[in-house]
Amino acid sequence: MKWSRTFIPTLRDDPADADAVSHRLMLRAGLVRQLGAGLYSMLPLGYRVLRRVEAIVREEMERIGAQEFHHPALHPAEPWRESGRWDEIGEEMFRLHDRKRADLCLGMTHEEIFTRVARAELRSYRQLPQIWYQIQTKFRDEARPKSGVLRGREFTMKDSYSFDLDDAGLDRAFELHAGAYARIFERCGIESLPVEASSGAMGGSESVEFMALSDAGEDWIARCSGCGYRANLEKARSALEAAADPDEVPEPERFATPGVRTIEALTTFEGGAQAERQIKTLVYLVEDEPTLLLLRGDHALNEVKLAEALGTARFRPAQPEECRSALGAGPGSLGAVGVSHLPIWADDALAGRRGLTTGANRDDFHLRHVDVERDLEGVRWTSLRNVEPGDACLDCGKPLEVRKSIEVGHIFKLGRRYSETMGASVLNEHGAETPLVMGSYGIGLERIMAAAIEGHHDAYGIVWPRAIAPFDVVVSTVKASDAEQSRVAGELYQSLRGAGFEVLLDDRDERPGVKFKDADLIGVPFRVIPGPRALAKGCVELAERGAGPADEVPLGELVSRIQARCA
Ligand code: ATP
Ligand code: MG
Repeated sequence: MKWSRTFIPTLRDDPADADAVSHRLMLRAGLVRQLGAGLYSMLPLGYRVLRRVEAIVREEMERIGAQEFHHPALHPAEPWRESGRWDEIGEEMFRLHDRKRADLCLGMTHEEIFTRVARAELRSYRQLPQIWYQIQTKFRDEARPKSGVLRGREFTMKDSYSFDLDDAGLDRAFELHAGAYARIFERCGIESLPVEASSGAMGGSESVEFMALSDAGEDWIARCSGCGYRANLEKARSALEAAADPDEVPEPERFATPGVRTIEALTTFEGGAQAERQIKTLVYLVEDEPTLLLLRGDHALNEVKLAEALGTARFRPAQPEECRSALGAGPGSLGAVGVSHLPIWADDALAGRRGLTTGANRDDFHLRHVDVERDLEGVRWTSLRNVEPGDACLDCGKPLEVRKSIEVGHIFKLGRRYSETMGASVLNEHGAETPLVMGSYGIGLERIMAAAIEGHHDAYGIVWPRAIAPFDVVVSTVKASDAEQSRVAGELYQSLRGAGFEVLLDDRDERPGVKFKDADLIGVPFRVIPGPRALAKGCVELAERGAGPADEVPLGELVSRIQARCA
């Protein structure tokens, strides 16, 4: 392809409203343009990358025996009602009506739709296992569309679904996918870490996310510096140093704390307590019922863990007046001592603690000498807190680090969540109806593109991993009007194409500086320059993007040199 005939609208300057590096570079390199919040048009160069990512994903899915479908993106409400998710899912789902006023939605995922086909068509264990997939547009009304295509409201997902007779079958399908995902990310140049994750809105038992470490991400993962332990912060657990509590404490004692409303304020109050010797009491309305959540004073609540413990995501922090009607005091003076009429959940960091300070359920008063086991009633223990950097690993005791990362893929063991609610079963070898055991597996194609850029760029632009670059080689004349340079460039263009490379011929009548800047920005892996000095020796210059200065290569060896570097 000749650059003079292409549409590659590069930008010299950084666009003002782009935060993530990948977003800036995708705009500057002319890969995408924004249509609206979370909506992006793929321009020709961007679409070439997306298609290469798609081809890799397709190849790896076919390798594990998956079969490609293509379902509608527009769904009737009925299957979603059958699974219960029409009501469970909130504003993230785009809903609409047709001309007959029937409810429809734009597919945000396709568990229900695949399960419907399985329910209607799979009859016998002999037809199992099955792995079905599609590469399809998904729609999600994200609360905060962000960082360009990393979090769009419309994006392309490869989603697959496995159907097995039993848990062992599901384990195999899950492992096959884990392997396929590892190969996909490796081929796309993304260093990904599989981590334990929470299953969230999908339901089911076990899930693994594939994370690419990057500051542009929105997920936090905890990772052990000693053993292999890794988990999303939504799931991560840690050990704490044993607290230096007294063996015995007197009865709780109420004391006045005028104006003290925060953990911080109590740490500096005369007769107060350090944050790690306080109980933080939060009031949440869980399905409208006031519920107390207790954490160590210096710890933060993780709402995903809370949802998992409660088995519902229908909760919110109580308003001050709701706290007052539940406990008789406002936030800052609340506590669980003597409370027996409300559910109490406590983070396990508080288990067995003695000599703590907490609110007294009377404005401007606190209680000291609290012995958690002795003084609190009916507590349900669970992990509610965020792991902090430096906490000890539960498995090996070494410190955990907490890193920001991009979730590039997610695989779930759904089990019987959909087959039971939607009634999808087969006959087993004894002729008995058995619910299908399912898995679901997602990977975001645009997110892979952006994550690859996050991991591979420099001050001049993108440095594409070879397998997903929009072109393999750019052949660039120094002076387009020079007949000899143009002739050689044209010949090299043909011979490289003949060898199977995707080649961009930069024949533009521009200053060399402009051409080189553009080539660096769009990040094509190899650049070939038939410059006058090299040509005089029967050579051309060959440079590899991001890999140091150019070499002079004899004209006749160019193709084999590039082939050798790609091998
Ligand atoms: P996130 O926590 O980032 O919202 P998710 O858990 O909702 O992701 P899944 O439902 O597991 O994501 O979707 C599977 C994959 O689809 C993700 O791993 C990601 O690669 C991609 N993906 C999800 N949401 C988006 C989005 N808004 N924009 C681009 N890609 C997305
Ligand atoms: Mg999401």
